[in-house]
Amino acid sequence: MSNQDHKNTEPLPQPKKGSLGGNIYGAHNVEVERQNPDMLTPPDTDSGTMPSLKWPYALSHTRNEHGGWSREVTTRELPESTTIAGVNMHLEPGGVRELHWHKEAEWALMIKGSARVTAIDPEGNMFVDDVEEGGVWNFPSGIPHSIKGLENGAEFLLVFDDGSFSENSTFTITDWFAHTPKEALAKNFGVSEDYFDNFPKGEKYIYQGDVPGPLIEDLPKEQNESVTPPYTSRFDKGKKVDVKGGSARILDSTNFKKSFTIAAALVEVEPGGIRELHWHPNAAEWQYYLEGQGRMSVFASAGKARTYDYQAGDVGYVPFAMGHYIENTGDTTLKFLEMFRSDHFAEISLSQWMSQTPPYLLKEHLPVDDEFINNHLHSETRPVLNWNKNKKAD
Ligand code: MN
Ligand code: MN
Repeated sequence: MSNQDHKNTEPLPQPKKGSLGGNIYGAHNVEVERQNPDMLTPPDTDSGTMPSLKWPYALSHTRNEHGGWSREVTTRELPESTTIAGVNMHLEPGGVRELHWHKEAEWALMIKGSARVTAIDPEGNMFVDDVEEGGVWNFPSGIPHSIKGLENGAEFLLVFDDGSFSENSTFTITDWFAHTPKEALAKNFGVSEDYFDNFPKGEKYIYQGDVPGPLIEDLPKEQNESVTPPYTSRFDKGKKVDVKGGSARILDSTNFKKSFTIAAALVEVEPGGIRELHWHPNAAEWQYYLEGQGRMSVFASAGKARTYDYQAGDVGYVPFAMGHYIENTGDTTLKFLEMFRSDHFAEISLSQWMSQTPPYLLKEHLPVDDEFINNHLHSETRPVLNWNKNKKAD
């Protein structure tokens, strides 16, 4: 059997490493195998049975509507992801994700284009804002809201603080009208029952509308930030962490008040760089890969570990407290989101922990010398993200 792909002169990927494994005789899904080399030929350090910690949005059912589309990753797609669900959504210019609410809090990052969002709080404070690329919003649990694509449309990632959330079961305004007796509606609004004859018979969800005018025309008379902290922010308002080999912005309730159940970090790792070995003491980590490619090994205790490969458009997950690193395996910047169901970002860095441990104690565990302890560990205060290319962060 030929070991060559018909269209490609590169050899077919094979589960063969040294004297281990052997060539596949049967079917190859070459594209998928090439994207996941660490599944076919895992590093020797991988061991034991681990759950799937990857789901590409490309494998999610896409709901196509007039005005846009959406696709989701929930516990149905990625069963380990119990704390967070994600929705990738696109709105055409003027397209609308209709007025609705849900039990879960909703956090979002605008990836391309821009959108106008609306929300109202229980005190009757109306909120309207335009969210541009790099902008975020957070609507706490139960707060009603809408999203409308501006002149170039909008594409964004929605993150919910419960893995069992579904975009297909939100409370929509059209659905409620469609499922309330006309006599009750007539009493509620003080009009005759036939007023509701032409109302939609079910939910609109996403529909095509008109591109709105300038923001000023839609702003409520009183949008007072001292009364109502804004539901929107931007990653450039987040805490900045800049180290050799990468950078990050951290946005949580310490700098974005409304985001009190979801904490976020937008991370960039340069080619050759690594998001250092660490874990999070407060929550599991849900990831979305925006650009580039990388790989992550997850250490699950008791000798268990597995390595997963990620491309732009994939979701990754790290169960609570498991150790991990993320390595840039490409030749472009690796950019991804770390999301946590928590009011704050927190991590424990392996390097920082080791640097603060009495050296004699460390030397009893591991054969490290003073040169390693003095020159290859860092001691920055948490939360720190360090990309260690065998060099101390400056
Ligand atoms: Mn929503
Ligand atoms: Mn992490």
